[in-house]
Amino acid sequence: MAAPAADRGWLHDADLAAQKSNEAVAVAAEKCADDTKGQTCYICTEALHWKTKEGLVRMCSCRGTAGFVHVSCLAEQAKILVAEAEENNLDWKVRDARWKRWYSCSLCEQRYQGVVQCALGWACWKTYVGRPEGNVARSLAMTSLGNGLSAAEHHEDALTVREAELAMKRRLGASEASILVVQGNLGNLYDKLGRLEQALQMRQDAYSGHLKFYGEEHEDTVRTANNYAASLYNLQSFEEAKLLLRRTVPVARRVFGDDHRLTLSLGWMYAMALYLDEGATLDDTIESVNTLEELERTARRVLGGAHPLTTAMEDNLRQARAALREEVREEARTRGAAIIYAAAALAVAAVLVLRKKLT
Ligand SMILES: [Zn+2]
Ligand SMILES: [Zn+2]
Repeated sequence: MAAPAADRGWLHDADLAAQKSNEAVAVAAEKCADDTKGQTCYICTEALHWKTKEGLVRMCSCRGTAGFVHVSCLAEQAKILVAEAEENNLDWKVRDARWKRWYSCSLCEQRYQGVVQCALGWACWKTYVGRPEGNVARSLAMTSLGNGLSAAEHHEDALTVREAELAMKRRLGASEASILVVQGNLGNLYDKLGRLEQALQMRQDAYSGHLKFYGEEHEDTVRTANNYAASLYNLQSFEEAKLLLRRTVPVARRVFGDDHRLTLSLGWMYAMALYLDEGATLDDTIESVNTLEELERTARRVLGGAHPLTTAMEDNLRQARAALREEVREEARTRGAAIIYAAAALAVAAVLVLRKKLT
């Protein structure tokens, strides 16, 4: 269920955004305290921020003595760079590069992670929340906040933001591409929150939207197909999952190759749906075990034995083999019973013939 409109009021409250931003910065600095001990900010060169007294953070790919920084210094820098691009009406490529300062490190060019991304997301939202609804920076800030909340695993809050984002984009007639991104994010959030039916609905919409907009060979389409299949699988709709995967696995193999993570994941779900489906035959289970064996070998080679997908495949392969053994045993029992039954029928017939002859 979506949160009632009254509960979403907090999102548009500028004072609350400022307060949430301060709290998120404190959480991020606390989390990074051990890593940043004895270091200074590469922007203001101080250990403690002159105004907010906040500590340092670093959650990107910077190593050694590089990349220690205050969230407030990052936010100030991003705000100035974006304002300058807006004032001088610089082209979208420059604006885009400058907007990146709201979520990625200017030194290693990698996205900030977890609570640091969350703190920057709040700082960004605090900066632009007061602008009118159609403003581009405000819209991008809402996306940044949703991404940051997800990165810090604040899924309920992230959901409120994403639902507001989708409603806003629809109201404003935003591009199909940007609506599809929000739908994909929403589907993943519903799934994380255990709202499986809603996740299925949203992922189905996202998949058919991607199919129409980008075509079946686009990576984003295959990725949304993977998520949609996972939702069908979670709800044990194996028949529908098989139909979807029969269409998608060959596309993934052709476009990305057998070693690609998406190909492995899609193939794995297909093999599982094949033997878990109620109407599965002995041949289906045999095909399933053979496919899982092949996929497990590839996953071990490409991703390594410790990767979650590889270990999950190992578990499933064990289960599928056990199911196959059970089915073979059952088949033997049924055949055995059939032979006894046929022999008994023959004996009865022989007796009847004999009786007829005797009378
Ligand atoms: Zn600083
Ligand atoms: Zn960095």
